[in-house]
Amino acid sequence: MKKIFISLTLILTLILSQKIFAQNVTEIAEGPKVLILNYHQIQNTSASLSIPLADFDAQMNYLTSHGYVSITPEELYSGLNGQLELPKKPVLITFDDGYADNYKNAFPILRRYGMRATIFVIPAFVGVYNNYLTWEEILEMQDGGITFESHTMHHYKLEELPDDEIRSELLNSKTILEEKLGRPVEFLAYPTGTYNLHIAGIAKEVGYKSAFTIKYGVVDLGSNFYALERVPIFNSAGHTMKDFYERIDYRQSFEEFGWIKK
Ligand SMILES: [Zn+2]
Repeated sequence: MKKIFISLTLILTLILSQKIFAQNVTEIAEGPKVLILNYHQIQNTSASLSIPLADFDAQMNYLTSHGYVSITPEELYSGLNGQLELPKKPVLITFDDGYADNYKNAFPILRRYGMRATIFVIPAFVGVYNNYLTWEEILEMQDGGITFESHTMHHYKLEELPDDEIRSELLNSKTILEEKLGRPVEFLAYPTGTYNLHIAGIAKEVGYKSAFTIKYGVVDLGSNFYALERVPIFNSAGHTMKDFYERIDYRQSFEEFGWIKK
């Protein structure tokens, strides 16, 4: 009888502690958590920033079959501000630099999966260099659910520039893109991902609502609007898919359990 009582107490304690633990987890995971992926090139080469087509296809397949819903930077901004209810598993798919293969290789795959994406382009390169997008391609993609935002005018290292040049890099790219695209351009990705508080201040001053870095992490209510985290996805010694799962799930679950605090 005593044995049964001890067992019952033990079971009850276990149930109660699990309940408390579950409550703690919910508390930590409260508020939107947004996965922002950062791609560059989608092509079948060994270039360090490129992802083979089949892998990109498998990644989009993984995201859609695991309930991820693609969102735009504007939706992210409204979601973090509490003005919009984000999907349960939001993902913001971003590409930096605006390579020509984004149109030729990534766009058809994105369309097939009904995924939206955002491309940060360098206006001085558009239609100028062969391996970058043209304005015609950009406009066609814009009609097909792709959002275009600024990656500055020339992709210079901003921290090496004087203030007036930082300002013109940020402002001119914004103005040209707005003219070409016929819509407001209010989001920025820092070239090479580097930024500091001073550059962020200028970005805010010239009219950007937020800016993206290459700081590794998942965006949540604790994130700085001018230093948003992203998860880089690139080719690493042929282990792309393993890296992909680890990068998007491993880190996220760590954060959910409060083991990593930014
Ligand atoms: Zn770049």
